[in-house]
Amino acid sequence: MKVSYWYNNRDIRIQEVPTPVPGPKEMLIRVISCGICGSDIVEWYRLPRAPLVQGHEIGAEVVAVGNFVNKYSPGDRVFIAPKVPCMKCSYCANGHYPQCTEVKERLPGGFAEYILVPEIFVENGTYLLPEKISYDQSTFIEPLACVVRAERLAGVKKDHSLLVIGCGMSGLLHIKLARTKGCKIIAADIHKTKLEFAARMGADMVINAKDDVASRLVAQNGKKADVVFLCAAATSAMEQAWSCVDKGGVIILFTVPGPDQNVVVPVNDFWMKEITIRTSYYCGPPDIIEAMKIIGEGLITVDDLITHRLCLTDIAYGFQLVTDGRESIKVIIKPNENVSA
Ligand SMILES: [Zn+2]
Ligand SMILES: [Zn+2]
Repeated sequence: MKVSYWYNNRDIRIQEVPTPVPGPKEMLIRVISCGICGSDIVEWYRLPRAPLVQGHEIGAEVVAVGNFVNKYSPGDRVFIAPKVPCMKCSYCANGHYPQCTEVKERLPGGFAEYILVPEIFVENGTYLLPEKISYDQSTFIEPLACVVRAERLAGVKKDHSLLVIGCGMSGLLHIKLARTKGCKIIAADIHKTKLEFAARMGADMVINAKDDVASRLVAQNGKKADVVFLCAAATSAMEQAWSCVDKGGVIILFTVPGPDQNVVVPVNDFWMKEITIRTSYYCGPPDIIEAMKIIGEGLITVDDLITHRLCLTDIAYGFQLVTDGRESIKVIIKPNENVSA
């Protein structure tokens, strides 16, 4: 089978390796669709584990199961979470699933023709796809689950004014989800095409992030934002987040600058204005279930975010598109198809 090994964003190598055979409690799945996530191109985050088979937004078909696997059978359509919590430790008990470190194993990446699914992922990480969720749509389950969780942590509710800084895939999903909650949505980005997308996906107003975002926001919205979602990694974006939050508001750090960046937080100002800063990293099983429900019931559409479908041998181009960020929103790799469209 073909597997792609990621060394860095400019060096991805396709290799032929033997197709694995599942052990008694494992299963083999054929990857039909796997999305490139914005986090896949973050080198400071991924390089320590390179060379790496990336790809964690996986829609796949079960092709073989071990003798002791009885929950799934060949032909089943599945989504598999890239990391699973143990569901037993104190973090899991408190709903901090992403902080669980009991399960060390990770699911092998989806930028490959097949994946051997380890036992713990067969047990805790596999979700059957309902007929109404296509394989391409299933690549949005994980990113939407992260967005579902972040909006819950932020306490997003009806009539909140919400500023989304950075309108890539995550930012756009934030806009779509907040739309269903009756929020007033303001989107900021430095790319014109992303702002056009944001407007089409339900943003009530868009602001070029190269402008003075805080004053444009106040001029158009009448006040600063109740909730700010930071979905861009630039330190300038983070400074905009600080300056755009209203008194009593919440800033969610969905994306952060790299570890080599020093960030100054205006704590004195925030103390008096009672600003909350929250981080949100990854998601947990309840968020995945909710995301599947949202996509399955068509509460939000995701097909309109897909800009590219590429075969595995074009993966380097896919990473180039996502790294460049101007023309693409969602790039999906189809490891078992030959044609790129
Ligand atoms: Zn992701
Ligand atoms: Zn745990």
